[in-house]
Amino acid sequence: MRSALLLIIATAIVLTATATSRSDEKPADLIVVNAKVLAVDARFSQAAALAVRDGKFLAVGTSAEIRKLAGEKTRVIDAKGRTVVPGLIETHVHAAGAARGEVLQPFVQLGSIAEIQDWVRKQAKKQPGEAWIQTPRADVTRIRERRMPTKTELDEAAPDRPVVFNWQYANRQVQVLSSAALKAAGITADTKAPGRGKIHLGDDGRPNGVLENAGPLVAKFLTRPDVPEEKYLESLERLLRRYNELGITSIFERNSNVAGYRTYEKLKAQDRLPIRVTVTIGLGSDGSVEGTERFIRSLPFKFGDGDERLKVGPLKIGVDGGVLYGTAYLREPYGQSAFSLYGIDDPEYRGDLRWSAEKIANMIRTGHRLGWQMCSHVTGDAGVDAVLDAVESAHEDSPIDGRRYTLIHAYFPNEETARRAARLGVCVDTQPAWYYKDGDALAAALGAARLEKFIGLNVWRSAGVKVALNSDHMQGFGPDSSLNPFNPFLTMYVAISRRMESGRVIGHDQRVSREEALRMTTIDAAWLSFDEPNRGSIEPGKLADFAILSDDFLNCPEERIKEIRSVLTAVGGKVVYEAKNGRAEK
Ligand SMILES: [Zn+2]
Repeated sequence: MRSALLLIIATAIVLTATATSRSDEKPADLIVVNAKVLAVDARFSQAAALAVRDGKFLAVGTSAEIRKLAGEKTRVIDAKGRTVVPGLIETHVHAAGAARGEVLQPFVQLGSIAEIQDWVRKQAKKQPGEAWIQTPRADVTRIRERRMPTKTELDEAAPDRPVVFNWQYANRQVQVLSSAALKAAGITADTKAPGRGKIHLGDDGRPNGVLENAGPLVAKFLTRPDVPEEKYLESLERLLRRYNELGITSIFERNSNVAGYRTYEKLKAQDRLPIRVTVTIGLGSDGSVEGTERFIRSLPFKFGDGDERLKVGPLKIGVDGGVLYGTAYLREPYGQSAFSLYGIDDPEYRGDLRWSAEKIANMIRTGHRLGWQMCSHVTGDAGVDAVLDAVESAHEDSPIDGRRYTLIHAYFPNEETARRAARLGVCVDTQPAWYYKDGDALAAALGAARLEKFIGLNVWRSAGVKVALNSDHMQGFGPDSSLNPFNPFLTMYVAISRRMESGRVIGHDQRVSREEALRMTTIDAAWLSFDEPNRGSIEPGKLADFAILSDDFLNCPEERIKEIRSVLTAVGGKVVYEAKNGRAEK
């Protein structure tokens, strides 16, 4: 009774208040005052305050102006001078895979042979028995010695246990087995490797532990248990909330399928989706027109279906391999110095395309004809040439320049390619933190000259190509220690400083300003999913996605940019993360 009476009184007060202002004005749900709001609008304007109502930005202005929009129930946040940015848009993650993997075996970034041995030792103790021990994925570019461990080194760590170090990527799979693993799998010098596989032999004529493309010989020992659905959903929700802690309010799940989309639908239905998701669907095709059409027609949805919380994004095609594995398809041969890192001994080797030019064109033209935005994983410059050839042929069928065809990775741009991409309305999704993590190893393997324009942001931008910065996060829950680090402030720091983890700089010209880095993580990132009318900047009418930051993004010392965290993140005006005591979490 009493509370009902209070409500009536409160309503009466609100009615009186609104009677004095315009009759259609309902108070804001939330306001932020005393802030430094970086709107990231066309003029990159700044303001001191913002108001949110019904999930959208209502107004941006001075603190006094914005306070006038508050009513009795409005939440007022005093930002105490902190910077507010539009919610960050992370355009390339594999959150579902990372969440599932973490349930099975928490990811640790192992950075040296000694760390790998140490991990194996602990694992053997933790899980005694006969089961095989599989090391977490560790790319050789991120191992101090820049090589895989040897059989002997694995034996030293766990003499009696089968241990396998996996280095797998697309068409190239390398595994190192310990002696006990070779024995358990029955692999001897006489074992025949499957297909184009190879069992490497040592000087003594016996297997030295290295298997190349011979996965089937050991696959049955490496099965992973199923993850119960609720555990998986819990893990995924937890990861999405970690993204929120970094100010991320939208993600692109970058290679999924119908089941993956359904998983996000489940979270959404249970009100457990604290982030906006665009789901990229991997194109399952044999490369023929008919096969592509059959796949697309089998999908229960079409491009763009869904809503502002969860929607269907583009179709994805894998075109070449990876630069960390020596399978990116390059214009110039990998060269002499590539041997030590990749084991490539053919002086003419340039990497691989997974499909013929004809098949690439079949898939892109068919997807385009059936109304889909398309994107492709393509790392090497020659791979990009092949994709742009296909995009051009699709463009001859019907204009593609408004469809925002997206090149994913595209690590070795040049001016001519960038102009061609701009003409076709093509945009780019790329990962500066790889330069930070792998730049030194790649410079040694490919030559420093080739690193000058590696992830060359200004090559693209000066031609007018939209670029979105992201992480390609695949495994682990640590913002800076996962594979790959998903801390967007580290990513922006690298784009701004062009500094590697070692401090080295190659390609000074490719540095961008702080404003530009922020654009590439907000409004330009929104462009990739046609969301710039509703997201990516703080402007009245747009979705109220924003983050209050722990440090002054525009003016703090450069080295501190990568330490920035969110202290409060809101999606659609709803607070999804708030740091305790207003301090940034580390
Ligand atoms: Zn990826």
